[in-house]
Amino acid sequence: MPAEESTPAIVLRARDYSESDRIVTLLTRHFGKLSGIAKGAKASRRRFERKLEPFSQVALYFRRRPHGQLVFITRAERGETDAPVIEDDLAKIALGSYMLELAEALTSEEAEAADAYHVLLDALGALGRGPATLAMRQAYEMRLLRAAGFGLEFAHCRLCATTGTERGGAVYFVVARGGVVCTRCRPQAPEGAVRMAAASAIALARIAAAPWPEAAALSHSGADGALAIARFLASIIDRKLRSVEFLDKMI
Ligand SMILES: [Zn+2]
Repeated sequence: MPAEESTPAIVLRARDYSESDRIVTLLTRHFGKLSGIAKGAKASRRRFERKLEPFSQVALYFRRRPHGQLVFITRAERGETDAPVIEDDLAKIALGSYMLELAEALTSEEAEAADAYHVLLDALGALGRGPATLAMRQAYEMRLLRAAGFGLEFAHCRLCATTGTERGGAVYFVVARGGVVCTRCRPQAPEGAVRMAAASAIALARIAAAPWPEAAALSHSGADGALAIARFLASIIDRKLRSVEFLDKMI
């Protein structure tokens, strides 16, 4: 039998399977994303001290199976921190659900994702302590993208490195470059670039650079900045996220 392994983990998704089991997808600190089956999860309070539900933060114990995608989840104990308390706030539920879904979309079961784990952990902590804000959403999106290897650039022109404000009132976000170009370099950018007010680009650059929880309290970008991030996400995620429509209505 394979050895039992353990890691801190956050539950991204869970569903019942048969009478007493749960199938669970988690983002772990040490092993990237994992999906597993928890036999008897609905009955055994001894092995599953922590319920395996979205947002649960647990110390996960599991065994790999020689063949097959799902690991055997053997135990789930109390983790280092508790899940954020968000039940009574629709905006928090919407943003939290989006955070989990985006984390699932931007990580894989083949690669470790310690940075993404910490981004999600910090973001859920901030969500538990303060209101759900658009700046918090944008901070999370940019941090998670950075953890996935896609650092977006809003502070400087991707081509000539001047700052957006030096070149007047607008910059242009180019999806293929993952960042903005200035007015002077605009002729070298493709047709579909997203025009952004310089103020929006500056707001995103500040949010990206600030630590939690200050980032969530900063001014968010305008709709142009939100569109730039959404276009970039759409270019690397091959499906529509279920939580986006609800979130867009809430914040
Ligand atoms: Zn430029």
